Formats: sequence, C-alpha cells, structure tokens
Amino acid sequence: MFGNLFRKEEEIKETPNQWIKCPKCTSLMYYKEVEAKQHVCPKCNHHFRISARQRIDSIVDKDSFVEMDKTLAPVDPLKFTDKKAYKKRLEEAKSKTGKTSSVVSGSSTIGGRPVEIVVFDFSFMGGSLGSVEGEKIVRGITRAIEKKCGFVIVSASGGARMQESTYSLLQMSKTSAALNRLHQKGLPFISILTDPTMGGVSASFAMLGDIIMAEPGALIGFAGQRVIKQTVGVDLPEGFQRSEFLLEHGLIDMIVDRGNLHQTLSHLFELFENQEEEIEDEILEESKNEPMIEDEPTDVIEDDADETIDVEEEVDVSSLEENTGLEKETESLKV
Ligand SMILES: [Zn+2]
Repeated sequence: MFGNLFRKEEEIKETPNQWIKCPKCTSLMYYKEVEAKQHVCPKCNHHFRISARQRIDSIVDKDSFVEMDKTLAPVDPLKFTDKKAYKKRLEEAKSKTGKTSSVVSGSSTIGGRPVEIVVFDFSFMGGSLGSVEGEKIVRGITRAIEKKCGFVIVSASGGARMQESTYSLLQMSKTSAALNRLHQKGLPFISILTDPTMGGVSASFAMLGDIIMAEPGALIGFAGQRVIKQTVGVDLPEGFQRSEFLLEHGLIDMIVDRGNLHQTLSHLFELFENQEEEIEDEILEESKNEPMIEDEPTDVIEDDADETIDVEEEVDVSSLEENTGLEKETESLKV
C-alpha cells in the first residue's frame, strides 16, 4: 500500500516535464504537442511565455543568428540590497538561465534581409531593464545604422530594474535617443510586445516602433492594474491592458500570432525596402530636373578655429560679470 503511495508521488514529480496545463483553458496537454506549436495552446491559442532563444529561433531565418555582446555583465554600483543583495540575485539569475543579462542581442536575417534583433528573456530577473540591457539595445541600433538595416526588439519585461535605480531609468532616455538616430536615417524599427510588457519598457522603446505589434492576450501597460484601480477608484473595463484592448484603442498597430511572426516581419521588411528604393528613385529624378546650385563660398578659415574658441571662452567669463556677452559673441562670429 505504501509502495503505491510513493510511486504516485514520483509520478506527480515527473508530470511537469511531460504534461503541461494551459492557464487559460485549463486543458492538460502533452508538452511535445505544445512545443511543436511554438508553445501555443492548440485548444485556445494561449501563447505561453518562451525563452529568448526559443523566440529567436521562431523569428529569424534558420541558423542566421549570431549573438553579440554576450559577455556584457552588470555591476552593482549602488551596492543595492532589498530582501537579497543585488549581486546574489544576479548570481541566481545566471545559474538559472546561463545568461548575464535579460536580453539576447545579435545580427541575423529575416526573409533573407539583414536585421539587428534584441530579445528579452522574462526568466532573467523578470526581463528587467538595467544598464547592460540598455547598452545592448543601443549597440544593436548602432549596428543597424552601420549596416543600413532594420531593427527589432521583442519585449517581455516587468520594467526598469529597481536594483539599479536611476542607472536603470536612464536607459529609457538612452535607448529612445538612439532610436531617434535610427529614425533620422530612415531605417525601420519594429517593436514586438509579448506577455508581459510593463513599466519603463512600455514607457520607452517598446512604444516607439514604426510598427508596433503584439502577441494575442499579452499584458501591456505601465502601472499594474491594482495600482491603477486604487488610484482612479473605479472598476477597470474587461480586457484592460491586453493586446486586443490596446489595438481597439489605437495604441498598437497589429496583433500577430506567434506562428505568423516570421512571415509578417519578412513581408514588412520587404515593403520597407521597396519604399526606400522608391524614395531614392524620386530623389534621383528630382535632382535631374533641378539646376545645380553651387554653395556660396564662406569666409571661415580652418586655421582661425583656435582663435575663435579663445574669444568664446572670454565671452563666457565676461558675460558673468557684465552684460556685454552678446556683442563680443557677434564679434567672434565676424572673425
Ligand atoms: Zn488553452
């Protein structure tokens, strides 16, 4: 009798490896069956959370991904400790995921076109955004500008990393500024929001995509629902902060099933490429019709550069004492 009981316990322990329960429709399914469908419930289309590596494999062309900045690892400038020391949390996250940060970034192709991609892994400290994550995003953008190719971020994050405080918040402006450089070069940025995309991530780069797409049913927002409910003092509408709600209210452009992500991205980058060629043709055509205007010669002589700087320094000092700065500055421009 006792033997049977023990056997039953062993069976229960083995269950999570072979069987998986859908949190949405509560169906019990064979794990391999869900895995074969890219971790989407075959009964109700619930999209399970997946690792960065699984995500990359499902999006980019086969064997095209080359990881970059793999060794970048966070430091602990604030010596931060909450229930646990930040250093300890980092060690645990590393032994759990084998990674040193919550994003994986690198170069790849999608539909045969080069694309720089950054993917969040929620299993590393809730996919939180810290200094390393911000730096990896900016480096990805810089590579995209150098290669003149598209850029993709797949977000899965609870937001900015509390343990890095202001250093973490700084990444919001740092990444946004870098995306502006990409935008000025006319290169496309596609932001993919997956479950969950919250806090500082949704309040910065995740919502700056030229095209913003989301997976079905993903939780997307800034503050949590409980906080909002307490602040506004009313019940929140059905489906609040889910992809479908955001699409209905115009915050995102499209909802794409995981199985169609690769095809959709491939199609969009093809469209962007064609559009770019059309614009180049138009510019070429216009320049043929316009008469050439030669630049007017300027009086600026490079050798005078040092002298000009000296005058400006004088202006800075004198303008603190008396209000003659503007006149002197005008003089320096004449030089
Ligand atoms: Zn289901």
